[in-house]
Amino acid sequence: TPRRIERALISVSDKTGLIDFARALSAQGVEIVSTGGTAKAIADAGLPVVDVSELTGFPEMMDGRVKTLHPKVHGGLLAIRANTEHAGAMQAHGIKPIDLLVVSLYPFEATVAKGAGFEDCIENIDIGGPAMIRAAAKNHDDVAVIVDANDYAPLLDALKSGGTSLDLRRRLAAKAYARTAAYDAAISNWFADQLKETAPTFRAFGGTLAEALRYGENPHQEAAFYRMPEQRPGVATARQVQGKQLSYNNINDTDAAYECVAEFDPTRSAACVIVKHANPCGVAEGASLEDAYRKALRCDSTSAFGGIVAVNRTLDAEAARAITEIFTEVIVAPDATEEAIAIVGAKKNLRLLLAGGLPNPRAARLTVKSVAGGLLVQTRDNAVADDMAIRAVTKRQPTDAEMRDLVFAFRVAKHVKSNTIVYAKDLATVGIGAGQMSRVDSARIAARKAEDAAKELGLSTPLTKGSVVASDAFFPFADGLLVAIEAGATAVIQPGGSMRDDEVIKAADDAGIAMVFTGTRHFRH
Ligand code: 5GP
Repeated sequence: TPRRIERALISVSDKTGLIDFARALSAQGVEIVSTGGTAKAIADAGLPVVDVSELTGFPEMMDGRVKTLHPKVHGGLLAIRANTEHAGAMQAHGIKPIDLLVVSLYPFEATVAKGAGFEDCIENIDIGGPAMIRAAAKNHDDVAVIVDANDYAPLLDALKSGGTSLDLRRRLAAKAYARTAAYDAAISNWFADQLKETAPTFRAFGGTLAEALRYGENPHQEAAFYRMPEQRPGVATARQVQGKQLSYNNINDTDAAYECVAEFDPTRSAACVIVKHANPCGVAEGASLEDAYRKALRCDSTSAFGGIVAVNRTLDAEAARAITEIFTEVIVAPDATEEAIAIVGAKKNLRLLLAGGLPNPRAARLTVKSVAGGLLVQTRDNAVADDMAIRAVTKRQPTDAEMRDLVFAFRVAKHVKSNTIVYAKDLATVGIGAGQMSRVDSARIAARKAEDAAKELGLSTPLTKGSVVASDAFFPFADGLLVAIEAGATAVIQPGGSMRDDEVIKAADDAGIAMVFTGTRHFRH
């Protein structure tokens, strides 16, 4: 049942929209309690308001550092209404319930932004505000909490239709905790800056410190590993069974490998991914993990040296034996057999991580990247090839075998840095072009690497002959496609959508190859 609001506590630094909101609450018969400046603004508008010092029996003191830090406030916010003991305490101590809390915090971020001095910034650290927000949000079963003036209107709408729903109160509570977390993160980062302290342990990320790392991407960089409060099986939640301490680069590369191998449903096939410098240098599906590993290794055995190997099924003895034939930095798997663990155990330094499961490639989570002075946040690329409406655009349709390889190659392309070109054959990559500023260069590099691999394997023709090719984004011109055709590709998968699609389709038709469009792009930078 919706909750009605009888008493509200409003304490806002930013008074935008305050008067209209207070007037609307008053009209609904809500009693308003407020702190100094807020109470004055409301009273000046001719609206009834109770000063918080009347409620607490204490004056606001110490330059406003102590205004609302009182049991009459926090008891009113935290008491569980249906709990008889809590109700008894309220009665015994004359505590009245507060059903709505509205706070906008001291403008700490704005004070820092305008270049204020140390003391001024310190004084703008709100104490009572976050305490009340956290209390109200914790008790969201009974209390609604607003930290953003944009929520005034939805709250009033709810009151007009009988009160706030639990769903609304929970959403407001979640937003409230996001606000206090961001506020404290701003304070911790500012404080670290004041101390010229660069260690990540001095900065808040919303995660918990998993471990301080020896160094970052390079030895002169400091680094730490944080675990986010999520249950998704992955590198952060994996158990390290053995081996040296993981480095920053190990963790980054292991994540890349594990996210990629998770694209392959373990109930459908065994799959293996070998990663170097966050890019796959070999990916394959096989009859067994050993088979998949050997196929993946063939793609670029030179780069695979010192690589990170991820598999999508329980690591077995055969796969463990094959993987340990060459120098490998990390193996990551959902699980491992006793025998496999013993085989890996012979290589003391080799790290073995068991994640307990595979990450869900469709999961909607956020990814964060830092830019100078800011953070870029986006939902992760959770588009999966199986879900795409893939359609042929050429005269020739791909054969079933080509189609299987096309989807395989596009799955892999998602996990290769752009510009990405991936050649594949028989569910294994045979040439990967990564991270080039031109798509044509990626196509050339991938083809050339396939020639090198053929030499290494003693084959007379490069493995791209009769392969398929995937491009993570559309071909802006036919030139990149022509390189792939020359290398021997017979079918192409790409998002499509270029201004010159017609030109590109014509080049494919002229060469008699099949081309399909996915409609989905997989940029990865
Ligand atoms: P007002 O303008 O109403 O005087 O003050 C509003 C501000 O005071 C709000 O930003 C609110 O978060 C903050 N505030 C409320 N109670 C306390 C307290 O006990 N200590 C501190 N430092 N700030 C408080």
